[in-house]
Amino acid sequence: MSVASSIDLHAHSTASDGRLPPAELVERAAGAGVRVLALTDHDTLSGLPEALTAAGPLGMQLVAGVEISTLWERREIHVVGLGVDPADARLTDGLDWNQQLRRQRFAQMVERLEQKGGITGLGGVMEEEVAGQPGRLHLARHLVEHGWARTVQQAFDRYLRRGRAGYVRAEWMSLESAVSLIRAAGGIAVLAHPLAYKLTGAWMQRLLTAFTQAGGQGLEVVVGTADRRRVDQSLGYALRHGLLGSVGSDFHGPNPAGIEPGRLLPLPAAVAPVWAELSDCHGRPVSAAVDPGR
Ligand code: MN
Ligand code: MN
Ligand code: MN
Repeated sequence: MSVASSIDLHAHSTASDGRLPPAELVERAAGAGVRVLALTDHDTLSGLPEALTAAGPLGMQLVAGVEISTLWERREIHVVGLGVDPADARLTDGLDWNQQLRRQRFAQMVERLEQKGGITGLGGVMEEEVAGQPGRLHLARHLVEHGWARTVQQAFDRYLRRGRAGYVRAEWMSLESAVSLIRAAGGIAVLAHPLAYKLTGAWMQRLLTAFTQAGGQGLEVVVGTADRRRVDQSLGYALRHGLLGSVGSDFHGPNPAGIEPGRLLPLPAAVAPVWAELSDCHGRPVSAAVDPGR
C-alpha cells in the first residue's frame, strides 16, 4: 500500500496536460500532506509563478522543475529537471524548441486522426482542450469525452500509441541535450518513470549508460502507480548505475487510478535520495522538510 509522502517531485498542472491550475495543484498536494512539491510540466516553466504564490501561505516548499521530452535511439524518453533556474536562457530556448514541436505534432496528430483514424469533429480541439502545452493526453481525453474510446488508456491503445493512426513521432531534443541544459541551469537531471518505456533489460542498460554518461544524476525509483516489485526493479537500476533515487506521483489531476500527490511508496533506504542536494525556488534546502520515514 502507498503511504502519504511528504515529498513529491513529479506533478503536472494546466501549464501542460494536467487538469488543475498550478494553485489548485499546490493546494491539493498540501492537503494531502506534501511539504515539498516539484512542479514538472512538460517542456514549460510557465506554471511556476502561480504555484509559488500559492505555496507560500501553505508553508510548502516548491521546487522549480520541468519534464523534458527527448529522443534517444528513436524512442521518446522523459527527463525531469529539478531545482533549475527558471530564468536560464539556454534552458528556456531549448524548451521553446520542444514547444514548437509540440504544436506542430499536435496539428499533425489531429490531421492523421481525421484522415487515417476516421475521427470526426476535431476542428476545435486545440481551443477546447488545451490551456498550456498540447500533448497526446489532451487528444485522449477528447476522444473519451466524445465517445471514441471508453477510457484514456483505450484511446491511447486504439489511436495514439506508437503504430496507431494518430501517432506522430516528434524530433524532440536529444537526451544528451536535455541533461546538459538542466545541469547548466543548476538543476539535477532525473530519468522519469523508467519502466514506462517497456524496454528489454539490455535496452534499459543502454539507456541508463547513455543517461549517466550524459551527466544524468537521478532515477525515479518510486512513481505513483508502482507496486513494491516495480520499486525494487527500479531500485536495482539506480544502484547499478550510481543514480540518486527520486519519487514522483506524475499526478495529472483527479483520476480513476487513484493517483494523488504524495500517494507514493517510500523510497528504499538503500539508495541516496535526490532531495539531499535539492533546493526550493527560494534557494532553501528541502531535505529538512522531508519526514525521516519519507
Ligand atoms: Mn503528461
Ligand atoms: Mn512522462
Ligand atoms: Mn509526467
